[in-house]
Amino acid sequence: MIDLFRRALILGAGALWAAPAAKGLISTAAYADEIDYGARLAYPYAVPALPYAYDAMEPSIDAMTMQLHHDKHHGAYVGNLNAALKDQPDLQALTLPELLGQLDKVPEAIRTVVRNNAGGHANHTVFWQILGGKGGAPDGDLAAAIDRDFGSLAKLQGDFNAAALKVFGSGWAMVLVDADGKLTLVSRPNQDSPLLEGKRVLFGNDVWEHAYYLKYQNRRADYLAAWWGVLHWPRIAARYAAARAGALTV
Ligand code: MN
Repeated sequence: MIDLFRRALILGAGALWAAPAAKGLISTAAYADEIDYGARLAYPYAVPALPYAYDAMEPSIDAMTMQLHHDKHHGAYVGNLNAALKDQPDLQALTLPELLGQLDKVPEAIRTVVRNNAGGHANHTVFWQILGGKGGAPDGDLAAAIDRDFGSLAKLQGDFNAAALKVFGSGWAMVLVDADGKLTLVSRPNQDSPLLEGKRVLFGNDVWEHAYYLKYQNRRADYLAAWWGVLHWPRIAARYAAARAGALTV
């Protein structure tokens, strides 16, 4: 069931994702549809299709890691979340941000399962979106916000990597964005999503070992350095614009 839905998304998304590249220019508006999962982020949940091939980020992120990470790890979060909500019609009616934002309403027996797996679904949905690019630097409003809130892109990259290195065990480093466009660097353990606090992620890096161990083994710093080279700044800029418009779903 999930596989069929995912294939339908791949087929549907193919044309959509091909359109901006065909125009040969980068604009935030061109990516607005790509970052809006809207109604798809509801029960029964499904893993969104990658907007690029598994090997698109070789050699920075290898194809085997991408396939396992997307299909198996993210797939498990989605499967576990759907199973936990199977007999919970009230919770099924919530969107993913609503579910994570009202975790106190989730029965205690499934609260931790929902926290971990709904969080994993939200975190990875963003993660696939912001990858698949050529790195470099953003421009426009997002570049100005980075300079304003972090000093420079180089300073942000240094601070971000330091925060990601400090995550003990599994977790994330993330840049959050509020409705005023203010950016904040944070880290989170496990699959804790900022949606738990009603906050939105602009972009984040997964420092669970499953994200890098096949290629980098214990060399997390090397993975962090390579990761900046495959960021997709146009989609991140579209997320920034959506956040400022109050339209960023996850
Ligand atoms: Mn992961």
